Amino acid sequence: MLMTTHTVDRYQPYRPRLQRQILWHATTSQRSPWRSTTCERSRMSEVDRHRVGSDRVKESHRIGKGTPLVTPSTFSIPETKRDQVLMGIRNIAGIIYTTVGVHPCSCKQFTKTSTSSSIFPAQLKALALAAKESGHCVAFGEIGLDYDRLELCPKDIQLEYFAKQLDVAVEVGLPLFLHSRAAHQDFIRLLKERDHGLQKKGVVHSFTGTKEEMLELVEMGWDIGVNGCSLKTEDNCSVVKEIPLERLQLETDGPWCEMRASHEGTKFLGDYKEEKEVKWVKKEKWVEGAAIKGRNEPCMIGKVAWAVAGIKGIGVEVVAEAAWRNSAKMFGLSEMVEGQEL
Ligand SMILES: [Zn+2]
Repeated sequence: MLMTTHTVDRYQPYRPRLQRQILWHATTSQRSPWRSTTCERSRMSEVDRHRVGSDRVKESHRIGKGTPLVTPSTFSIPETKRDQVLMGIRNIAGIIYTTVGVHPCSCKQFTKTSTSSSIFPAQLKALALAAKESGHCVAFGEIGLDYDRLELCPKDIQLEYFAKQLDVAVEVGLPLFLHSRAAHQDFIRLLKERDHGLQKKGVVHSFTGTKEEMLELVEMGWDIGVNGCSLKTEDNCSVVKEIPLERLQLETDGPWCEMRASHEGTKFLGDYKEEKEVKWVKKEKWVEGAAIKGRNEPCMIGKVAWAVAGIKGIGVEVVAEAAWRNSAKMFGLSEMVEGQEL
């Protein structure tokens, strides 16, 4: 991973470790539940659909060399397909992991019928407990608040269902995978109200808040997840610089949140070069072993690591080591760091 002509020798000793040091986070489309089984699949065409399956996931694992954590918005998956999707992930346990929970932008679905609203907490709890028991579900989420996208789900509904899901999370006992956008006060208030019940804490992913907000979360014991969105502006980068290494996690959030050339974070990439061994093709021309042009693939995780290292002024191996250790420890992933106890 992260090979360049200058760094291949310098980082060669770290190569085996870098290959598995960073948690991928890939999310799923509300429109395409199938994508939750493939982790890096974005706007899926009909042509793509038949390729979904464990071989494809294993291949993406091989290309990206990390541990994918897929965060499907569970109840956006039609009930008839939910088991199938979760089973797809279960069948490749040890390579890919999932979460169970409902994204704030998807919570409006619970208000569509009074039945769905009343049975949802019990349904979600049962699903999460079963998935936890099977070992392929390592976090509860992605849940939270998103006031930047109220057009997808109004604030009052987001608040109601974030609170309800946190109550379920307390009973389920998994670490949390959290989303917070322009909602810090409400977000932290709801977390604080249940602080005693959320012992395993979790990660606040795709962090774009202020330094004060980040420090408040860190102080309470939450990890901070960084992706391309967290590296967009000068302010973003100055916040990333201050995230303590012991609270840092890295993610792609593929297929979204890529680090674009216009992002401030790219100024800190140093001599990073795109991974040469990955073949990029148009999605219509996808073949086994290739990544798809124009979308944030999990194998781009190295770019995030490199930018964070540049911002912090430390070695990329230090960042990767810390981020992987934090992810593996929090989510109880089966891989060990150099055989050491986490
Ligand atoms: Zn999110």
